[in-house]
Amino acid sequence: MDGLPQTIPLQLAPTIQRTLKSAIGCVGVGLHSGQRVQVQLLPAPVGTGIVFRRTDLGVDIQARFDHVIETRLCTVLGLPDRPDARVGTVEHLMAALAGAGVSNAIVELDGPEVPIHDGSAASALFLIDCAGIVEQTEFAPAIEVLRPVRVENGEAFAELRPFPLAFDMAMSIAFDAAAIGRQALTLRLTPESFRAELARARTFTLASEVSQMRAAGLALGGSLDNAVVVDGAKVLNPAGLRMSDEFVRHKLLDAVGDLALAGAPLRARFVGHRTGHTLNNRLLCALFADEANWRLQPAVEALPRPAATVRPRERVKAVA
Ligand SMILES: [Zn+2]
Repeated sequence: MDGLPQTIPLQLAPTIQRTLKSAIGCVGVGLHSGQRVQVQLLPAPVGTGIVFRRTDLGVDIQARFDHVIETRLCTVLGLPDRPDARVGTVEHLMAALAGAGVSNAIVELDGPEVPIHDGSAASALFLIDCAGIVEQTEFAPAIEVLRPVRVENGEAFAELRPFPLAFDMAMSIAFDAAAIGRQALTLRLTPESFRAELARARTFTLASEVSQMRAAGLALGGSLDNAVVVDGAKVLNPAGLRMSDEFVRHKLLDAVGDLALAGAPLRARFVGHRTGHTLNNRLLCALFADEANWRLQPAVEALPRPAATVRPRERVKAVA
C-alpha cells in the first residue's frame, strides 16, 4: 500500500459476505417483453453469489459476465446450451444487490425478464430493505485490478485502473438531445452513495427511438411510468426529472449492475465515457482475459483500516 496517500479516508465496501434475512417477492412487467413476471429474492448460502432461477424452466444461471448473451438494449443472461433459458434486464436488480452489499442470493423468476418497475433500482432496493440483510460467516473476496484495462468503441470507452482500497467510478455522457447534453459524475461506490446518488435514477430513451423499438418488438412494456423519454430539449414525462443529471446517474447505475457480473466487488477506478451494456461487458471480458490483470483480495485483515470514516462524496461536475 506504499505510496498511497494515507489521508484518504475510506469506507470499504462490505467485506463480510451478506445475504437476505428473509425471502421477498413482487410482480411486475418486463420492459422489453411486456410480460408479467413474478420475482422472489431468496437468501442463499456463503459462496453462492447471485443466481437467477427460471422457475418455469427449472434452469439456474449464475450472474456472471461470461453468461451475458446480449447487450443491445439491456443486459441479458443465458446459457449457451439452453437458448430458451434467458433472463433479460438484470442490470438494475444486480445494481441494487451490489449497491446494498448483498453477496449471495437466489432470484427466482417465472418469465424471461426482470420487471422494470419505475425504471430505476429504487424498487429492488426497497425489496432488499424489506427482506433485511444478514452477515454470514465468511469474508467476501474482492477483485483487485492490477493493471489498466481499457475497451473502446469510437469515442466511447470504459477503463478499469488500479486502486486497491475502494471502487471509485467516474462517468461522462454526451447526447445531442439538449435535455441531456453533457453530464459527468464521480463517486466512491458504497451502500450509502449508491442509495443516495444512484438508486432513484431512471432509465431513459429518446422519443425517436421509441417507435423504432416498438416496431422491432422491443420496449413493449415501456411507458412514461418506467422510463424518462426525451424529445430534443423536452422531457416528456409530466413530472419531469428526479434530478437534473438523472441521465448520467442512471448510466452509473447501469455500470454498477453490469460490473457486478464480475462476481465479487471490484477494487479499482472505473472511468466510463458514453458507455453502455456492451462496453461494460467487454470491459469485464478484457479484465478476466489475462490473469495478470487482477487478483483476489481474500481477507479484509490484509488491508489497512484507516481511522477515518467516509470521504465526503466527490461530486459532481455537471457539464451540461
Ligand atoms: Zn438501465
